[in-house]
Amino acid sequence: MGHPVGLKCVLCGEEYKPGSVEYTCPACGLDGTLDVLYDYKEAARTLTADALAGRERSLWRYGELLPIADDANIPRLSVGWTPLYDCPEVAREYDVGRLMIKDDGRNPTGSLKDRASAVGVARALETGQRTVACASTGNAASSLSGFAAVAGLRSFIFVPEKAPVAKITQLLVYGANVVLVRGDYADAFNLATAAIDRYGWYNRNCAINPYLVEGKKTCAMEMAEQCGWDVPDTVFIAVGDGCCISGLYKGFYDLKLAGLIERIPRIVGVQAEGARPIHDAFKSGADRVAFGPADTVADSISVGAPRNWAKALRAVRESVGDMTVVSDSEILSAIPEMARRTGVFGEPAGAAAFAGFRRMAREGRIGRDEKVAVVVTGNGLKDIDSAKKAVGTPMVSAPDLEDFNRQLERSGLQC
Ligand SMILES: *Cc1c(COP(=O)(O)O)cnc(C)c1O
Repeated sequence: MGHPVGLKCVLCGEEYKPGSVEYTCPACGLDGTLDVLYDYKEAARTLTADALAGRERSLWRYGELLPIADDANIPRLSVGWTPLYDCPEVAREYDVGRLMIKDDGRNPTGSLKDRASAVGVARALETGQRTVACASTGNAASSLSGFAAVAGLRSFIFVPEKAPVAKITQLLVYGANVVLVRGDYADAFNLATAAIDRYGWYNRNCAINPYLVEGKKTCAMEMAEQCGWDVPDTVFIAVGDGCCISGLYKGFYDLKLAGLIERIPRIVGVQAEGARPIHDAFKSGADRVAFGPADTVADSISVGAPRNWAKALRAVRESVGDMTVVSDSEILSAIPEMARRTGVFGEPAGAAAFAGFRRMAREGRIGRDEKVAVVVTGNGLKDIDSAKKAVGTPMVSAPDLEDFNRQLERSGLQC
């Protein structure tokens, strides 16, 4: 497995030895998130396309570039190697060369967050921790609770009181200690950070704990491998706190340094109109993100105070990427459109990435021969109330063929 050789602050560039720093850069504080660095030459000796062909179909196939030393600490749930679907009809409709959908809602607890939790829980075991904790808009929480359960760790989870009921129920089912915080995600984050500090729990927050983005980066690695190492030109992903987009960039970056790919795709971050601080900072060329309001149907990206803003901005800028915003009605209409056209049912934040693709394609901001991938970060069953707003109601019939026939005529449907 992998052996990180350094941790480097994304803001000041200072490097630290692994083990000498726990979470963020001591000089820059909470904003100074750290990159995990490897000996890429060493990794490239065994991490080859041929070697990969024979490995297990999970994120652990990229072990040389993951921060876990001992296989014994790997949780039993199978994470990653989610499908990348080719969608030629949709590509034709939007006049792009190729469109692919990465269905990360297929992970064990239903979201991309499982990639981070798998690595986080393995790190907690490796460092001898017994209790893990995080604040979350919902999915990081349900994911952590699932992985803590299989690893035999205790978990404390802080979520905003308005998190969808499916996600809160998932936490309780897995046996997490759940704290519904009266407030928004920023309030949950602050309370979790203070509690983690006081009680010495292991911090599974992607914006704080540098090893968690290492799990998320495997989504990019898989896409590269699934494309035969000829990476997409452009990748769309929804952005809240900024960790998933940072993970995409890091995954492509690591593969490039290990010599497996030649270039990093253009990474496009999609935010909701009601929660757009990273978009606005990118568009105005600011070097810091000003926190703003968070109001969107897409709870997973309802983040006004993104904690991983520095890495997120870097992901977009260094990849020569872009940002776009989509309205709640665009997000809601993308849910059934994507499900009907590609078969993938995403939660609002997952569909937001597709809505961002759709908007940029309509605005002519995607080339006609570009190969595009859209990452669907979470499963549609996570938030049924939002999905219901985007669809009609079913026909109701008595258990009787004549009544059914009357209803059919009333509905105007052809039979
Ligand atoms: C967490 C999450 C996001 C956003 O990821 P960030 O790292 O917070 O930017 C998007 N979609 C889903 C489904 C998520 O759970």
